[in-house]
Amino acid sequence: FMRYLSMNKIIQNLIAFREERNWKQFHTPENLAKSISIEAGELLECYQWSYENIDRNKVKEELADVMIYCLYLAEYYKFDIQEIISEKITKNEEKYTISDSKNNCKKYTDF
Ligand SMILES: [Mg+2]
Repeated sequence: FMRYLSMNKIIQNLIAFREERNWKQFHTPENLAKSISIEAGELLECYQWSYENIDRNKVKEELADVMIYCLYLAEYYKFDIQEIISEKITKNEEKYTISDSKNNCKKYTDF
């Protein structure tokens, strides 16, 4: 059966995984930012030639890779994941009001 872990436990496990391998030395913020982008590229690769017959398992794994590096970078700066995402959602709600943005994908600078 699948056991779902809390976000704190996930972060603890990621840190333990890294400690056991002595990989913290490689996790500079710039290396982590690069890794997020590289994994995002791998995610995009899932859609390179076709939007049909997507390998969902590959999407799942690359998505997890992106998020894992995001968690490491957030941990580096001691950012609280829930807090930074909540703050950004609030900001986005203010930038993209429903009246400006409903059925409209324009950037807020182009309203
Ligand atoms: Mg990957």
